[in-house]
Amino acid sequence: MPELPEVETIRRQLAPVVEGRGLLGLDIEDPRWCAPLSPAVLREAFEGRRVERLGRRGKYLIWHLEGDVHLLVHLRMTGTLLIDPPIGAPYRRVRFVLDGPGPAEIAFCDPRRFGTGEVALGHAALAAFLDARVGIEPLSDSLTGPALAALARGRRAPVKAFLLDQRRVACVGNIYADEALHRARIHPLRPVGTLKRAQFAALAQGVREALTAGLAAGGATIDDFRHADGVRGSFQDEFLVHLRRGEACGTCGTTIVKFVVGGRGTYVCERCQPRPRRARAVDRTGRPAASP
Ligand SMILES: [Zn+2]
Repeated sequence: MPELPEVETIRRQLAPVVEGRGLLGLDIEDPRWCAPLSPAVLREAFEGRRVERLGRRGKYLIWHLEGDVHLLVHLRMTGTLLIDPPIGAPYRRVRFVLDGPGPAEIAFCDPRRFGTGEVALGHAALAAFLDARVGIEPLSDSLTGPALAALARGRRAPVKAFLLDQRRVACVGNIYADEALHRARIHPLRPVGTLKRAQFAALAQGVREALTAGLAAGGATIDDFRHADGVRGSFQDEFLVHLRRGEACGTCGTTIVKFVVGGRGTYVCERCQPRPRRARAVDRTGRPAASP
């Protein structure tokens, strides 16, 4: 599933291609993409307008068009945006047709068809849409130890489940949660409300470092993720713990283990990230995993 580094990688590739150009056509071939609105409503709202900026908030790619209209694209599980894809590119759901010189088309391709396109008319509607769905932007100055501590106060949820809740911290998915917790030396089952002030600071730092490393590598390629130019990211070669069950921790040499937290495969070095005492005695949420 694309996470922040993957979405931001796509944004950085697409922005110079689309910004300043007119959107001649928005050809929605799969109406489910924009349901409950009809493709005709989106065409009416967007066609013929100039693209002022391609932005991102959380995992939403936002086409800011002239006249204060905004198209929010979410890639979900398998969506991607390809620049001038070959004719007959599989799983195409939407075509963005651009005017003027340069690549003529951006295609939204999406084998599993969970990706979405949504409309915000006016900046107030855009802000309301995002405030209801997207938490702290993790690569911004607003991700700090005290900010995380304030969100976590009184909560018993495992810190990993807390990180995965997009309404608290945007854009931290399964890969980057594991990588951030390892960097912060925090066990994923630790109840988030019990972390110390220094651990919240380490967690904020760990999230930022993991995402920055992912971005530098052009994201991770797992499943179907592709860049807008069809190239794959390489962050999967740099994982410290994620998907490395049975391998030695690069810091201490202890064997990395895998278990399940909140339904997600979770990878930990339990020497660098000591298991909380209660979870050791009564293990309600962590159970041994059957397969890597
Ligand atoms: Zn270790």
